[in-house]
Amino acid sequence: MNDFGPVFPGGSASEIPPMVDPYRLRPQPPETVETQGDDPRVSQPIPFRRPDDEQAAASAGGVAVADPALEVGVEVPAQEQTLGPTGRPLPDLPNPRPVTTHGNARVIAMCNQKGGVGKTTTTINLGAALAEYGRKVLLVDFDPQGSLSVGLGLNPHDMEMSVYNLLLDRDTTLADVIVPTNVPGMDLLPSNIDLSAAEVQLVHEVAREQTLARVLGPAVADYDVILIDCQPSLGLLTVNALTAADGVIVPLECEYFALRGVALLKTTIDKVQERLNPKLKIDGVLGTMYDGRTLHGREVMQRLVEAWGDTVFHTVIRRTVKFSDSTVAGEPITTYAGASAGADSYRELAKEVAVRCLDV
Ligand code: ADP
Ligand code: MG
Repeated sequence: MNDFGPVFPGGSASEIPPMVDPYRLRPQPPETVETQGDDPRVSQPIPFRRPDDEQAAASAGGVAVADPALEVGVEVPAQEQTLGPTGRPLPDLPNPRPVTTHGNARVIAMCNQKGGVGKTTTTINLGAALAEYGRKVLLVDFDPQGSLSVGLGLNPHDMEMSVYNLLLDRDTTLADVIVPTNVPGMDLLPSNIDLSAAEVQLVHEVAREQTLARVLGPAVADYDVILIDCQPSLGLLTVNALTAADGVIVPLECEYFALRGVALLKTTIDKVQERLNPKLKIDGVLGTMYDGRTLHGREVMQRLVEAWGDTVFHTVIRRTVKFSDSTVAGEPITTYAGASAGADSYRELAKEVAVRCLDV
């Protein structure tokens, strides 16, 4: 050892840089709960039991029996199936029906004024899962932070055209701005920090709330689904997204504080529906970063279902570090870790979205 840390075998530290990252030689902290996300033994939510089920079990034998649904690999007969993570029986969702032609897109805004709740993650991965099911998908990055674009591998400084040009320059067309992604069937309208200027400039435009709806109009004929990733605010950009949308998906982190502010979001959605966009409806509330092993996680989920009823998706997205890893890799989890539980959750969500509002 010298003053600068360990000396590595095979050369003098001052002449040859070490081949081994010295940080990796240090004792690592024990794995946190979060990094175990895909281990089926620990990430399975503990299913809810109805109180009367427990009473029935107690009167039948009096001995507490381990829940068979918790044992990995054990087939549970249909009539004994326990409830899903939202406390309701899990429906067996069909695969979205195959499509031969494209068009008449449903425009869905991913909206919550709170940051870090999974809007961008859901936009990328729901889009990729729908594309896997043969849908033609357009993702719209409508957050000046440009996370959606970066999460799909784009460099914000290399962008020649962005949604900003589309909104404020009448000569720019969709075709000038749309870029393909690495996911077949999924395209992107990218953004970067320029979009923050659009929010200020749009204030002076005629029909300023309808600007995005106007410029997205021609894309509706070419795509099956258009997903808009909103910024974490209820400002003019978000009102534009809600005005352009047919439906809203509200991702909510399964934490107590996440429930605060949802009333304000609902009021904003209602106002836009009333004054600007009568067709707008809430397609679903999505529980994200769920940890079914904690009582807190299960309680928050229960509160969500009490407040929103069947608007809450049966699919919940569990907390797993794979999502951050796939963002760093610049691709959706469905291609980065296609066999992971996180990828499967978004495929389930795609099926649920198809049943609720695409295959109707
Ligand atoms: P938002 O767009 O609402 O601000 P993001 O989708 O960017 O939220 O997510 C915020 C952070 O949380 C990101 O680093 C993302 O990788 C991470 N994240 C998203 N969903 C999950 C999840 N289910 N489990 C763990 N981390 C997640
Ligand atoms: Mg985001």
